[in-house]
Amino acid sequence: CSLGEAFYCRVSPEPLPDPYLISMNPVTAGMLGLDTQVFASQLPDWISGNRVPPGADPVAMLYAGHQFGHFVPQLGDGRAILLGEVKDTEGRLWELQLKGAGVTPYSRSGDGRAVLRSTIREYLCSEAMHGLGIPTTRALCITGSDEEVYREQIETAAVLVRMAPSHVRFGSFEVFYHRNQHDALQELADYMLTRHFPHLADQAQPYLAMFSEVVLRTASLISQWQLVGFAHGVMNTDNMSLLGLTLDYGPYGFLDSYDPDFVCNHSDHEGRYAFSRQPVIGHWNLTCLAQAMLPLFSGDPDAAVEMAQARLDTYEPAFVQAYADGMRAKLGLKEKHRKDHALVTDLLQKMQVSQVDYTRFFRALADFRMQDAGRSCVAADEFVDRDAFHAWGRIYAARLTQENSQDEARARAMRWVNPKYILRNSLAQQAIEKAENKDFSEIDRLLQLLSRPFDEQPENEEYAALPPDWAEKISVSCSS
Ligand code: AMP
Ligand code: MG
Repeated sequence: CSLGEAFYCRVSPEPLPDPYLISMNPVTAGMLGLDTQVFASQLPDWISGNRVPPGADPVAMLYAGHQFGHFVPQLGDGRAILLGEVKDTEGRLWELQLKGAGVTPYSRSGDGRAVLRSTIREYLCSEAMHGLGIPTTRALCITGSDEEVYREQIETAAVLVRMAPSHVRFGSFEVFYHRNQHDALQELADYMLTRHFPHLADQAQPYLAMFSEVVLRTASLISQWQLVGFAHGVMNTDNMSLLGLTLDYGPYGFLDSYDPDFVCNHSDHEGRYAFSRQPVIGHWNLTCLAQAMLPLFSGDPDAAVEMAQARLDTYEPAFVQAYADGMRAKLGLKEKHRKDHALVTDLLQKMQVSQVDYTRFFRALADFRMQDAGRSCVAADEFVDRDAFHAWGRIYAARLTQENSQDEARARAMRWVNPKYILRNSLAQQAIEKAENKDFSEIDRLLQLLSRPFDEQPENEEYAALPPDWAEKISVSCSS
């Protein structure tokens, strides 16, 4: 099953001069059964255009999207090139994409390139998210070149090889709805159903069932972002995966100190994609997808809207429940109690006032002892106002007692859900600066570190430290 010509343009990757391997991910390479030595020796030939990967039929996919709330009728892969699909060692198919491989018919005024900086950021973060157990596209390798690329300053070009079961986006549906091409819309939906939602084939209304599943996957994905403190930065509908994967890493950021108003993208002046707005934006984006899929739901427009609305209405409760369950797990709570919401809200509000580091706090909270209501717990050190923590700690201790919690067992469970290591901007920045001086070792080191974010790694303790003061000055924007 494959899609017809309406969905893409055939393209040829634009050769990048004198490419060299920057990093290869042994995990994804292993999944694909690649011999890393052989692959590393062939890769520069692909990227330089000397050879096309065997069996590849490179295309750029068409899509549209709502960018910062405004509909853009045509976007598409402006610098990503889909090489084709490969089977992993377990027989699962993965799309392989080159990101930064040159202009395509959808590049608009862009140069089709990706800079080394942003490529490292996507490479590391997609694998870090996977390590955290959050659905995401994956990364295979980075190839660099000394070719100059012009952004806010001069940088060098790189190509990321990324992989996903599908890179289809909400915007892939929007483009055909807005062009009134309902046949193409249906073809795309059939393709996705057959290939990626085969368990829904027997449903009375498969398109609606698929939409319904996308709603729930999106709610689940965004709840996981909120729980781990991840801000995507550019939640345009062209960056929303139909499979509920984290897709298109740009100016993302993890929370350092807890701040619901955190805006990681310096070009997002209105804070549309602020951390705390992500759940609402998820719903807004699903509304755009619903609109684009209406003709598939029913020939009667009113009936189609009603069906879509009923599915959209499942988003909020699904999100709220997933988030509440996740927060209970972060706090090591097994039972559900009426006042849990207040317990969490009170904590987060105190964390915000005291500028508490989100990741370090939850990790340290595993050491909370019920007997002394957390007076000896190092999590208090993260608070400017320690009394605020202790006031909350008394309520938390009472709540733990109520469900007969055991310190040791709870601590173990909490360390499974509260990561010790996250990809702070400052860590990525250090790897980038070294790489810009041709030392790629830090990329590999972080890749390895972040593949096991829940493990104590005593030799890597410094990576769990508070971010340095200079981290505040790191500026990330859409220019990548
Ligand atoms: P993004 O915000 O990175 O997801 O990109 C939004 C749109 O702009 C997509 O259609 C991209 O393919 C396109 N785009 C971003 N950067 C470039 C570039 N350097 N050259 C061509 N197209 C680009
Ligand atoms: Mg994008």
